[in-house]
Amino acid sequence: MGNYFQPEIETASREEILAIQNEKIVKQVKHVYENVKYYRDLMDEKGVKPEDIKGVEDIHKLPFLSKADLREAYPYGLLGTDLKNCVRIQSTSGTTGKRVVAFYTQHDVDLWEECCARAIVAAGGSKEDVVQVSYGYGLFTGGAGLHGGSHKVGCLTLPMSSGNTERQIQFMMDLQATILCCTPSYAAYLGESLADKGCKPQDNCLKAGIFGAEPWTEEMRRSIEKSLGIKAYDIYGLTEVSGPGVAFECEAQSGMHINEDHFYAEVIDPDTGEVLPEGSKGELVFTSLDKEGFPLLRYRTRDICILTREKCACGRTHVKMTKPMGRSDDMMIIRGVNVFPSQIEAVLLKEGYTPNYQIEVDRINNSDTFEIKVEMAPEQFSDIVSINQAKEKKLEQAMRTMLGIGPKVRLVPPKTIARSEGKAVRVIDHRKLHD
Ligand code: ADP
Ligand code: ZN
Repeated sequence: MGNYFQPEIETASREEILAIQNEKIVKQVKHVYENVKYYRDLMDEKGVKPEDIKGVEDIHKLPFLSKADLREAYPYGLLGTDLKNCVRIQSTSGTTGKRVVAFYTQHDVDLWEECCARAIVAAGGSKEDVVQVSYGYGLFTGGAGLHGGSHKVGCLTLPMSSGNTERQIQFMMDLQATILCCTPSYAAYLGESLADKGCKPQDNCLKAGIFGAEPWTEEMRRSIEKSLGIKAYDIYGLTEVSGPGVAFECEAQSGMHINEDHFYAEVIDPDTGEVLPEGSKGELVFTSLDKEGFPLLRYRTRDICILTREKCACGRTHVKMTKPMGRSDDMMIIRGVNVFPSQIEAVLLKEGYTPNYQIEVDRINNSDTFEIKVEMAPEQFSDIVSINQAKEKKLEQAMRTMLGIGPKVRLVPPKTIARSEGKAVRVIDHRKLHD
């Protein structure tokens, strides 16, 4: 069944995977303890010795690492090998604060690119394909990861980077790109720009898209699939663990397979740190089993998801994670209610609006204000105030039902909300800006 980039590992039995993980973790913990003082101190503080870790079933004994640790240890404090053995530095996007940097040896770059190659093949990619990489190139891992993966598969790689939408479209059409890789928000923008030029979805040669690096809803997936005439696949990753390709979707599209031969995943209760059983929703924690440059153990991602080992129709055996619908720190607490931007996106697309919106939160006279600006598509646009007001009321009601609290909805004319070429900025929280 299906195509795999590395069939022997992607479809290995659970016992085989476990054996690989057990062998790697014992070596990795010993290596980290000997080479990374920052983590050795944390282990000593907790009274854990490398000999206590005999397999992945002992991982829960190890201390956690958080983004705060990475910032404290910046830049070299968590290096796992001599700097002269490293060949690459990448950095996080800084979505939630100061950027952190990660180091890669050639071995680390290779395993990362292989993970991206698995994702491309899972999306139907082969040597026959032209892969347009429209993730940003540079310090951001999106461009480099998919670029390397595309090479490994042997696809013809179009290293577009993000931005310059006119040129993206020209090359997409002229060079007959078949697979598009970018953030979902940029894919939506490319779809919109093609339509503006009078191009129909069937006019391009694209068959698939590999989209990730930010949360996106099933509604957004359907909207992109329609506008570009493709099948859209999710891909997940983070710089601290390597980059995109930590997990990826197969044709079954019922969660993303985590590349478990390299990254061991746990889900924990974010408040107590307790490991939760399979099927529970919690914070995803990764242990890098064989990276050399930046070998993080038990790194808390702040991404909230569920893990499942249910058999997958694609034949892959690796554990699957659900789409993280935002990280714990994307969650807004408005008038005491937890709100994720993804819930708002789902309502908007269900109600027939575009995915162009912006959420603004403030605190005035000790009370939270909550406003959502929603862009109308040209055919929805009306300058009759009463028509717009009725639509706003309807959306406010739908939001209240979904969220449990009512925002103020303001419909704005077409093309008035800035488009994103990378990760979209959905929330402006003035309360945080005042702090
Ligand atoms: P930053 O944390 O500064 O944004 P990265 O560029 O390394 O740095 O982004 C990694 C984060 O992006 C992940 O922790 C996750 O929150 C988000 N992310 C990546 N891929 C996805 C995806 N497919 N769905 C939802 N969120 C994603
Ligand atoms: Zn699968």
